[in-house]
Amino acid sequence: MGKPRVHWPGEQLCNSCFYTGMRTYGQCPRCGHDGVLPARARHDDPRPCCLECGGVDPDAYRCRTCAHEGEIYRDGQCARCALRDNLDHLTPQPRRADIKRVRSAMIEALCRAQRPESVMTWMRNADAREILKDLMTGTIACTHESFDEFPHSKTTEHFRSILEQHGLLPRRDHYLAIFEKWLAAKEAAADTPETWAMAYRFATWHHLRRIRAQSVPGDSSEGAVRSAKQEITEVIKFLNWLHHTHARTAQTSTQLDVDQYLQSGPTTRHLIRTFFVWCRANHINTSVEIAHRYAKTTPTLTDEQRLQWIQTLMRGNVTSLHQRVAGLLMLLYAQPLTRVVALEIGDLQLTPTEMRISLGTEPTPVPAPFAVLIYELLEHRPNLQTTGSDTMYLFPGYRPGRHLHAQTVMKELRRLGINLHGARNSALDNLVKLAPPPIVADMLGYSYQVTERHAALAATTYSRYAQSLATTIATVN
Ligand SMILES: [Zn+2]
Ligand SMILES: [Zn+2]
Ligand SMILES: [Zn+2]
Repeated sequence: MGKPRVHWPGEQLCNSCFYTGMRTYGQCPRCGHDGVLPARARHDDPRPCCLECGGVDPDAYRCRTCAHEGEIYRDGQCARCALRDNLDHLTPQPRRADIKRVRSAMIEALCRAQRPESVMTWMRNADAREILKDLMTGTIACTHESFDEFPHSKTTEHFRSILEQHGLLPRRDHYLAIFEKWLAAKEAAADTPETWAMAYRFATWHHLRRIRAQSVPGDSSEGAVRSAKQEITEVIKFLNWLHHTHARTAQTSTQLDVDQYLQSGPTTRHLIRTFFVWCRANHINTSVEIAHRYAKTTPTLTDEQRLQWIQTLMRGNVTSLHQRVAGLLMLLYAQPLTRVVALEIGDLQLTPTEMRISLGTEPTPVPAPFAVLIYELLEHRPNLQTTGSDTMYLFPGYRPGRHLHAQTVMKELRRLGINLHGARNSALDNLVKLAPPPIVADMLGYSYQVTERHAALAATTYSRYAQSLATTIATVN
């Protein structure tokens, strides 16, 4: 134990115990008081109890403004009320009603942050304060375009996400925005203006339109963006080659040119196929045809390999819990990781005896040994400090309102030797024909007792979880 932070009757609390205690809320087991439970009533009773039962003056830990019980941040106020004061004093009340509305909505949004202390920390930064002032006084319109103009930093992106989460900015598909930026910078890769014009036309008319159509609020077009980038890059390389080797363009390219190009380079060159399908459909070039390329040996995943991987992930300690759960869901339900990482809490149906998951089509039961890991994850979701506990994602990402990146999980799984050669590979489709999750549990030899123990654990976790879910939903709505 470090240096004591507080001396309470019968106990001294170090900084970290004090911090934890002040964030433990619930019903006091001794008197039934509902509030902060930082204290212990007796030496031999390990249960946390309320301030009063612990012999501590509750008034010392009650905010003078909102009466919230807990740690006092400054002048008898909790961190949230102190933050509200800071924000109120940052700019004068604007006269115009519309700006007034934006200002107070912005203050509300920031005050609802999971950790108001962290908002105050970044408000110490002069640039962040200026941006905030400009937005609150209406000097700068509260739009994505304004944010694009700000110097790019983690802070501004964080702030943008908070405003998105609270409806002050429309949700913008993060990956779509990245793609548009990427495309604009790609011009440098084209050797002639004609090459760029053609590649750009393909990129916007084929890919950008598709990505936009697929981009629905809250969902991400991560996978579509990745393959679009690869195809466009390959098309530019091909058009450059065509220009330098044969002085021809997409319009005048011959089948022979294309065959020569495909045969003399790496297999990634085949990614220009979509481009020629598009050329044909748009009467740009109707003479070139590229056959679908099949790998010589289509990788198929055997039950044995799959079981081995599942076992690796079940073993624990190999990697963090959320990576394990994401990998397991992919392997058990044959779903691409991009869909797995976008799962929301609402996609799980919980009852005291069973868990069902909506991944793909119908809600499917999750067998006990796997469900227990998901229960564990529900209690220890990653990145809640930065994302805010009101996020509905099962795999919250590093930034507010976003879920975990599929690539991040994929990389980690590859490190463990789990490699499906791209989430949409035929190996994954093949999984569907393999044993369904309950059979997998059997095959892995989860004995009756183990399953029983897990069921009991699931039941207790469930009751605790149902409570916190109710509060989560209450704060979200
Ligand atoms: Zn301690
Ligand atoms: Zn009590
Ligand atoms: Zn308060």
